[in-house]
Amino acid sequence: MKKIKYFVVAFFLIVVLFIFNSADINSWGFYVHRKVNRMAVFTLPPQMIGFYKNHIEYITEHSGDPDRRKFADEKEGVRHYIDIEHYGNDPFNTIPKIWKDAVAKYTEDTLQLYGINPWWIEVMQTRLTNAFKELDVDKILFVSANIGHYIGDANVPLHTSEFYDGKTPDQKGIHGLWESRIPELLAEDYDFFVGRAEYIEKPNELIWKTIKKSHEDVDTIFAVEEKLRDEYPSDKKYSFENKGQTLTKVYSKEYSLEFNRLLNGMIEERMKSAIKMVGSMWYTAWVNAGQPDLSSIENKEISDAHKKEIEEQEKMWKTGKVKDDKNIIKQ
Ligand SMILES: [Zn+2]
Repeated sequence: MKKIKYFVVAFFLIVVLFIFNSADINSWGFYVHRKVNRMAVFTLPPQMIGFYKNHIEYITEHSGDPDRRKFADEKEGVRHYIDIEHYGNDPFNTIPKIWKDAVAKYTEDTLQLYGINPWWIEVMQTRLTNAFKELDVDKILFVSANIGHYIGDANVPLHTSEFYDGKTPDQKGIHGLWESRIPELLAEDYDFFVGRAEYIEKPNELIWKTIKKSHEDVDTIFAVEEKLRDEYPSDKKYSFENKGQTLTKVYSKEYSLEFNRLLNGMIEERMKSAIKMVGSMWYTAWVNAGQPDLSSIENKEISDAHKKEIEEQEKMWKTGKVKDDKNIIKQ
């Protein structure tokens, strides 16, 4: 009998550990990506907001798709980050900001190896402009939801660092703490007033400015962890919470709130930056497409073909099989 009890306890612990370890796989966490895409809709000008409001559920629901795609498509992961430290002590003056110049300097293999997030946002920006030119509802929505995700990631400091989840093994979990645990506890109280979307003259410059700003916060995050290390032994640092049916190991509320306090508004500021930038990039694509009249497609639903694509894609994500990343809306 005793043996069985031990077995049950051991099994339970393994399940808990597994859940804790896999908690950091979602960039920004699904919660924040949803929030960023959703709030971005309200930054849009009158000529755009009707269309986006009618499709706000699509924009919200599909904000996490790029993360889910990672499980099935090996080309996906590198689009979510850039390990800037790889490019030396003065990376922002070293890396060519234009993709083909960067390829010429470092080779495409190297760029792929250390992450391509900033360049990928530009690719998506061009696709969105084209989607507006074609007034293609499926494409506008698909690319809007997806670019919102990549812009969200560009605003996360730890997505710009090779120390993605801590500099030392005992910092593991810090990624999820910053981008999921803390915002999930606090974001309802954040002030998301970011004003109106703005036209961006040079999206490439804004993207790199954003990556640089995000990266400047990396050291602070690690410094806060170090500061709290002695004050919070393991039993104070972690707690257990029911998530659905499972008891899950999480950073304690007390530790998370203190961590956030010492970050001095950083997470709120990065979320606001993401919201404003998503709205502005959507708006810029629309302007660059010649400001097409969206009222003509405002009440149009996504096509049956796209619905089918989404269904098939979700099946593939679950089974881990994907033919090609262009499977959805021939991009
Ligand atoms: Zn991501």
